[in-house]
Amino acid sequence: MFEFTVTAKNSRTRSGIFSTMHGDLVTPVFAPVGTQATVKTLTPEHLKDINASLVLSNTYHLYLRPGDELVRDMGGLHKFMQWHKPMLTDSGGFQVFSLSDTRKIDDDGVTFKSHIDGSMHRFTPEKSIAIQENLGADIIMAFDECSDPNDSAYSEIAMYRTHRWAERCLRAKTRRDQALFGIVQGGVNPTLREESAKFIAALDTPGIAIGGLSVGETKEEMHATLDVVMLLLPEDKPRYLMGVGTPEDIINGVARGIDIFDCVLPTRLARHHSAFAPEGRLNMMNATFARDEHPIDETCDCYTCRTFTRAYIRHLIIAKELLAGTLLSIHNLRALIRLMEGIRAYIADGSYESRVPELLSKWSNNAKRGMGNRE
Ligand SMILES: [Zn+2]
Repeated sequence: MFEFTVTAKNSRTRSGIFSTMHGDLVTPVFAPVGTQATVKTLTPEHLKDINASLVLSNTYHLYLRPGDELVRDMGGLHKFMQWHKPMLTDSGGFQVFSLSDTRKIDDDGVTFKSHIDGSMHRFTPEKSIAIQENLGADIIMAFDECSDPNDSAYSEIAMYRTHRWAERCLRAKTRRDQALFGIVQGGVNPTLREESAKFIAALDTPGIAIGGLSVGETKEEMHATLDVVMLLLPEDKPRYLMGVGTPEDIINGVARGIDIFDCVLPTRLARHHSAFAPEGRLNMMNATFARDEHPIDETCDCYTCRTFTRAYIRHLIIAKELLAGTLLSIHNLRALIRLMEGIRAYIADGSYESRVPELLSKWSNNAKRGMGNRE
């Protein structure tokens, strides 16, 4: 189980197949984020329709609400949310560090206050694995500590803790149908990243995640960090770049050998009335669309673009109708999944590397950052 087969390779870029109990993942792959066991505003049928193959959900959120034991008793996450393809859960570490305003970290774990009701909770590596085993995703993450990337002293402490916690997660794991990934940390310090990549690569895990990026560092720092880390990772394990997935980050990440991406950007933009389009990101509330009979993108094959005009979508937004968020989420997610399908075709025919400049220029107006990539 959990075999990863590289099916095509051009320089550092590769395409492959990762087998899980809920089906094969063809990589590189973009995973929509279903924070609370739902990709916001979409049904699993919508997700199938846009050819999504992997959905991410958040351990921290589901532990707090409705509770991982409830999800287990309801048959696990796949059955609970009726998504029967591969799923991934994160470890809860990122949210503990980013959402909870009160937290106390020690070498054993983290005590934190719920952002929902202020109640106190404690996560340890063993607890994170127990929760993720109750949830039952196909790919699960080791509990890690994400540091401020520019604070080298803290990044070093957090990195060593992450390594010890990864070993504890491996020992704590009891289910054999879940692939546990270790997480490379180390901020933007190349020496730390090198040490972390070697340590995590040596663990007996079927895949490797790279954490602590897209958290405030520059693009140059992210690329330099990936250049250090990727050279040290084994070829026969999938690599997951956590919480990173703007079009520009996907194109650059694939060029460096990343296999799995996830990002809340497409659905978050949708809720802010923005659409990916060939001419750049569109604010669909704009008055210029009031009588526009065209779809968002003439070249897009999604349900929204096959069916509705820009004028109708603008009307829904102005009238505050919920359907606007659904239609824009369908389009934005399909746009990134189509980008990935195109990338896989270019990898298969050996042309990916030569097409990177063209892809970057095509997506340059859509690639702006400025909103958080994780929830
Ligand atoms: Zn579309």
